[in-house]
Amino acid sequence: MRALTYHGAKDLRIDTVPDPVIEQPDDIVLRVTATAICGSDLHIYRGKIPMVDDGDVLGHEFMGVVEEVGAGVRDIRKGDRVVVPFTISCGECFFCRLQQYACCETTNDGRGAILNRKAITPPAALFGYSGLYGGVPGGQAELVRVPKANVGPLVVPGSLGDEQVLFLSDILPTGYQAALNAEVGEGSTVAIFGAGPVGMMAAACCRMLGAERILMVDQYRYRLDFAVQAYGVEEINFEECDDPAELIIERTGYRGVDASIEAVGFEAKGSVTETVLTAAKLEGSSGKALRQCIAATRRGGMVSVAGVYAGFIHAFMFGDAFDKGLTFRMGQTHVQRYMVELLQFIEDGRLVPDAIISHRMKLADAPRGYEIFEEKQEDCRKVVLTP
Ligand code: NAD
Ligand code: ZN
Ligand code: ZN
Repeated sequence: MRALTYHGAKDLRIDTVPDPVIEQPDDIVLRVTATAICGSDLHIYRGKIPMVDDGDVLGHEFMGVVEEVGAGVRDIRKGDRVVVPFTISCGECFFCRLQQYACCETTNDGRGAILNRKAITPPAALFGYSGLYGGVPGGQAELVRVPKANVGPLVVPGSLGDEQVLFLSDILPTGYQAALNAEVGEGSTVAIFGAGPVGMMAAACCRMLGAERILMVDQYRYRLDFAVQAYGVEEINFEECDDPAELIIERTGYRGVDASIEAVGFEAKGSVTETVLTAAKLEGSSGKALRQCIAATRRGGMVSVAGVYAGFIHAFMFGDAFDKGLTFRMGQTHVQRYMVELLQFIEDGRLVPDAIISHRMKLADAPRGYEIFEEKQEDCRKVVLTP
């Protein structure tokens, strides 16, 4: 089959690789019909994620039609159309029973223990996301093996098109979890840092949950313009002001917002391994948006971090956080927990996640898709690939 493969920073290629096969009784093999490029893929693209091997197949946001079913798969049949969560979870362990699927302690083989300085259980395996997360081949391919098929894949109704449900695989639940973690409700005032796909999904979910004001921070005019039109946000372009947090404080009567959502992530200069293992590289992870979240949030407020962080974050304002009595919530999304509920919101028309798609391309053009999304060319908001 054809698949998008990694060969080093900014060196992605479409290669022919062996077709995946059923390896465990609860596996399925999927013929991919749609797959998206995520901001998390950009960390890999930039060469910032350790343990990505030459030839690894990328991609963790995908859906398709079931081609083969293992003998132990219960509710999914050949020919079903499913969308697949990026977190691979067993459904039975300590964490899965708590619905903390991203912490599943049985799916990651632990080969990434290099970053676990204590012998703590590894996080759940993820599709297409390096040896740190189990080294499972991803879905930016014609075919993909999906382990733990009794827990993850969700059968979608024929009345909904691929694009309408594709983002259930990651960014929609991620935006939703970010908004729930921020305790956004009727009348909330919330600041969202980052107007990428994750920030957009967070804005959509905050609106749905009743937020009164959403202040959105980014540097790209076209992304902010879209968010103003689609979600009615108050935009703040941080290239055009000294300090977005100061502006947010001013605009909220010097009180600050009820909650901040961080949808940016780390900007490591060195590799994550260097950042983690070498204190000298402390300045590597800047965490600017995280500092601004802390600054912009009112006393007793929430800071919800959806952006991916790794290693040390320089100048984390712990004193300010303590003084204000802030609550922090963060982490990889427990996708399986939210999929069914969010599918219903899409069916009811309360959420229209596909509205953010700006680029539709063939899988064969994926390397160019990454380039456009990374460089923010052609007003790119989200790229969807079809094999
Ligand atoms: P993206 O790169 O398209 O968007 C990030 C946006 O942040 C860009 O528009 C950029 O201009 C903006 N930005 C950069 N610095 C900023 C700053 N200081 N203040 C405000 N905005 C700033 O990526 P995305 O797909 O939206 O993903 C965002 C983050 O979410 C990434 O770190 C990604 O890895 C993470 N993510 C996390 C999960 C999870 O499970 N928690 C899931 C998906 C994605
Ligand atoms: Zn993603
Ligand atoms: Zn589990």
